[in-house]
Amino acid sequence: MACDFSTLATADTGDPEQLMLLIDQCTKLVTDPKLWFWALVLTIACGAVGAWIGKYKNAVVRDAILGAALGPIGWIISLFLPVAKPTPQCKVCRKPVELRDTYCRRCGAKQ
Ligand SMILES: [Zn+2]
Repeated sequence: MACDFSTLATADTGDPEQLMLLIDQCTKLVTDPKLWFWALVLTIACGAVGAWIGKYKNAVVRDAILGAALGPIGWIISLFLPVAKPTPQCKVCRKPVELRDTYCRRCGAKQ
C-alpha cells in the first residue's frame, strides 16, 4: 500500500487496520530525512536566486526571503518590485543615517 491520492480515494473507511497502515505509510513518507534534506536544499537554492535578483534591485535580503519562501513566484515578484533606494550614508564616517537627520548619530558630522 502506497501513500498516494488514488489509495486515499479508494481506502475502505470501514477497515480501521487498513486506515492505520495507510496513516503509517504517509507518516513515514512525510518524516523521511531525504525529503527534508532536498526541501532545505531547494529552499536555499531558491533563496540564493532571489538574492542574486535582489543584488540588482538593491534589496538582497528582501528578495532572498521572497525567493526562499515562494520560489519562482518570489522571483517574479522580486522582478516586478521597484529598485530599493540605497540607504543614505554619513559623508564623514560612512555609517547609515536617516534621511531626516541633520547630524550623524555616530560621529556628529553635519549632513
Ligand atoms: Zn558619521
